[in-house]
Amino acid sequence: MREKIPPRFAVDCMLGKLAKWLRILGFDTVYFSRIQDEELLALARREGRVLLTRDYHLSLRMRDKQVVFIESDAWPTQLRQVLNRFQLRDFIKPYSRCLECNCLLQPTSREAVRQLVPHYVYTQVKEFSICPCCSRVYWRGTHFQDMERKIAAILGEEGSAEAKKGNRKRDIRKNRGAVTKRIEQKSQLNRNNNKEK
Ligand SMILES: [Zn+2]
Repeated sequence: MREKIPPRFAVDCMLGKLAKWLRILGFDTVYFSRIQDEELLALARREGRVLLTRDYHLSLRMRDKQVVFIESDAWPTQLRQVLNRFQLRDFIKPYSRCLECNCLLQPTSREAVRQLVPHYVYTQVKEFSICPCCSRVYWRGTHFQDMERKIAAILGEEGSAEAKKGNRKRDIRKNRGAVTKRIEQKSQLNRNNNKEK
């Protein structure tokens, strides 16, 4: 059943990229590059956060509904696992949260950030937002389109045909069946070579 409010997350040290992308998509995510397991568990429990971890033993220390054992090493797959697990696609609000400190960004006027951004940005960009916690200023710069493409690809079905084709190719390469088949073909080839000798 779909929850009305998306879960908040506590992400373990090994999953920095996942944490960053959850924030890019607007999800409340705490992450520390260094934190003791005990501290992380306590924080997740205290703040009612779902623990996302690559550490199986750590995952066993939280109740089922409050933990997700992340299966993949690749962050796009990790992100998809989390989005699918909690049916989060309708809750995605890209660029609404500070990537550094997780606070919600607030829209701000161009004049207000005049002294805080490079001059050419001030002259070219119309919309800015600011983090009320760390005062970092955000705007949709040149990296924006690249991020948009990545988001589209991650969302899979909604992604471009090209991205989907790319994913399919990778999946086929990863497919164990295909590898086994190649090995069989190779040994067949060896047998044939031996016969010829
Ligand atoms: Zn901030």
